[in-house]
Amino acid sequence: MMSKTHLTVGVATALAVTTPTTVDGIFAAVMGGCIGGILCDIECKSTPDMRDALYGRIIAAGVCGTLLIADAIMGFGIWKSVLSQLGFLTIIGFLILLVVCIIGRCSEHRTFTHSLLYVVLVTLGCSLITEYMLIPVFAGGISHLVIDTFNKKPVPWLYPFKKKGICFNICYASKVGNAIFMWLGLVLTIILLVWRIMTMLTLST
Ligand SMILES: [Zn+2]
Repeated sequence: MMSKTHLTVGVATALAVTTPTTVDGIFAAVMGGCIGGILCDIECKSTPDMRDALYGRIIAAGVCGTLLIADAIMGFGIWKSVLSQLGFLTIIGFLILLVVCIIGRCSEHRTFTHSLLYVVLVTLGCSLITEYMLIPVFAGGISHLVIDTFNKKPVPWLYPFKKKGICFNICYASKVGNAIFMWLGLVLTIILLVWRIMTMLTLST
């Protein structure tokens, strides 16, 4: 699927799984959904015919950057969590992310980056930086593998143990199936965001 589809479905999945009732929880779900949803396509180069990957990364960076700045100004809790966890494990988390992303970037399309192992390692790296990312990043990553499995190109879930992947052979990555998932993800994201904000407001009164 295309990058915007992975973003909307990743965020919707993270919001659905974490059911946040606080601003920091909502921010974490949106950021983690973006990160998990987008990082599985890190091997896609930003060549003229693959501009989509670049646009997805710009959107994800913009969303995460904006939420991090808002959190830094308003003190919702994500930066506090990063600072309270800061230490040896933070460095390990960064190193895991760096190494996994470099290996992923250099790997062939839909091999290592489209496996459970990759999603687990990316989740581990992020959650060692802040525990807020544990469930949202995992949810976003799994959502990426699930919707890519609907394509006509196999997804090697158990790579490297089983290099031959699976696919439902239903739709092409850039055609009508992709559009359906993208809009479904967007509508679900809006519904879940409104629902969680309403819940939050109700709980605070
Ligand atoms: Zn993919």
